[in-house]
Amino acid sequence: MKKKNSGFGSNGGPRNLLIAVAIGLACLLVVTKLHHDIRSKSEKSFSQFLAAVDAGQVKQVEVDGPVAQWRAADDQVYQTITATDPQMWERLQQKGVEITFKDGSTKMGSWQILLIIMFVCGLAFVWYMFRQGKSAGGSGGSNIFTMGKSRAKMFLPSEIKEKFTSVAGASEAKEELLDVVDFLRTPEKYERLGAKITRGVLLVGEPGNGKTLLARAVAGEANCPFFSISGSDFIEVFVGVGASRVRDLFAQARKAAPCIVFIDEIDAVGRSRGSGMGGGGNDEREQTLNQLLTEMDGFETSKDPVIVLAATNRADVLDKALLRPGRFDRRVEVPYPDLISREEILKVHAKNVKISDTVDMKKIARGTPGFSGADLANLINEAAILASKENKAKVTLEDFEEARDKVLIGKELRTIVLSEDERKMTAYHEAGHALVRLLLPENSDPLHKVTIVPRGRALGVTHSLPEREKYSTTKEEMLASIQSALGGRVAEELEFGKLATGAYSDFKVATSIARNMVCHYGMSADLGPIVYTQHGEFEHSEHTAQRIDNEVRRIIDESYQKAKELLVNNRVMLTVLAQALLEKETMYASEIYELLGITPREDFKLV
Ligand code: ADP
Ligand code: ZN
Repeated sequence: MKKKNSGFGSNGGPRNLLIAVAIGLACLLVVTKLHHDIRSKSEKSFSQFLAAVDAGQVKQVEVDGPVAQWRAADDQVYQTITATDPQMWERLQQKGVEITFKDGSTKMGSWQILLIIMFVCGLAFVWYMFRQGKSAGGSGGSNIFTMGKSRAKMFLPSEIKEKFTSVAGASEAKEELLDVVDFLRTPEKYERLGAKITRGVLLVGEPGNGKTLLARAVAGEANCPFFSISGSDFIEVFVGVGASRVRDLFAQARKAAPCIVFIDEIDAVGRSRGSGMGGGGNDEREQTLNQLLTEMDGFETSKDPVIVLAATNRADVLDKALLRPGRFDRRVEVPYPDLISREEILKVHAKNVKISDTVDMKKIARGTPGFSGADLANLINEAAILASKENKAKVTLEDFEEARDKVLIGKELRTIVLSEDERKMTAYHEAGHALVRLLLPENSDPLHKVTIVPRGRALGVTHSLPEREKYSTTKEEMLASIQSALGGRVAEELEFGKLATGAYSDFKVATSIARNMVCHYGMSADLGPIVYTQHGEFEHSEHTAQRIDNEVRRIIDESYQKAKELLVNNRVMLTVLAQALLEKETMYASEIYELLGITPREDFKLV
């Protein structure tokens, strides 16, 4: 979603703000200067004044309250704050000084001037902001009077055309969101048994993969209003504005309930507190975040639900408080589409375009790994433009070919685009992880799915599902985890005979498990059942540090050898699996079992 509103915070906002600040600063300067001029009119201390009087240097004194302005023998005028005791007047009289008293109310003191100037400046500022608001044309643009109003856009059910059928692929995400739709449609059904349904769902995925689209489709399916705002729209320079915008948004949403509130880029407000953003915006962000949490906690569990869908591609930076039960306790992944999804997305967007029969969408899907839904929509559009330029009757394969290059160039600047070699390497890498896991069945978590569709900075992912909620893990299980983590690198090494950087995060996983085994769980014969920490309670000696390092090294080395042994002995399977992955991109456990002829492992069931 793109931001729509203009006004104080967005279009031209920063420039206007700068002008306002400049005016303010100029006023301040003038005021301080004037004030200083008045105050510093050759200020003399009371003692200096008295000394001058005694020396007969003072000709004339004009007294205004505590301030005395006096003319010295050399006709210079000085100013002194005096004590007004009667003795002083006598002293002055004795020296023949001429004394006049001024009525303090007629002459303005410097502080009065200051006040007036400040008032004028304030007026100017308010007038300026007011004009600012008017020129924004009332299209939700904010000025000083409406700054606290939420800038959410509201869509009525009749305005929302999207349904789940508009979202191609993304079957897992849709399945998870079906619950939300059902709940919005018939809250009574859940209320009857006292079931509490999630009020916040986090949609996690790279831009362009359809998070906004999915959120709108949920509203479309549930036939309810849809409020849409971006996390960055909450934040203003003024502390407290974000919080009041949140309050306003939820007040509106409650009135329209049941409804959906969609917050794009939630990380703009939801970054974990104290996480290196630094700078002044923090207070404001924290207040806004707190208000959001308060609003979500305050949802009534009963009818008229408000469900908040929030989108981000940085779930890792979110504040833990956001993810607690009752808040965003559900997470739906919206990954890059795989081969089949890409074909479906292409078909959805090709519906309104005249395309030649010779164009095979399957082939185009195959040629666009790593494209997001938005990239694919863009591809179709670019191809149509190219064909139109040449006055063709229909869009041809050549147009797609050319359009793909165009989109790719734009894309390479933003995300990872894998070359064929890299894809191959990734396929072997992931196959390595998966196969080691499959070959160590008793001790490793069952495989769930393997994919070589890039996600974020990861080129591919091998997912496993824990069989049961684990409260303890055995040494063998931990070793199996290390081995399967190393399996990726081992497979690359076997197949290509060279080392690549893609295994960094695998090594981190392996190292951290091995260290924990040695330092926390007493699983090393050499170091025994003792807890070692680098700092604090169980600090250890330098000598021990050396032994820990050796022990970790030994565990990793042995695991690497073990993984290598497994893959060398099952080289054929590795090749078969990697080739299949190259072909299909995403494979579920059942397909892999079938492909490799391995007896499927029973999934953990409740009944
Ligand atoms: P995000 O919010 O994740 O950045 P959007 O929902 O804004 O992505 O998607 C941008 C556009 O990409 C959509 O408007 C749609 O045209 C297209 N698109 C993305 N994913 C899909 C999909 N699964 N099916 C159909 N179109 C999609
Ligand atoms: Zn890996």
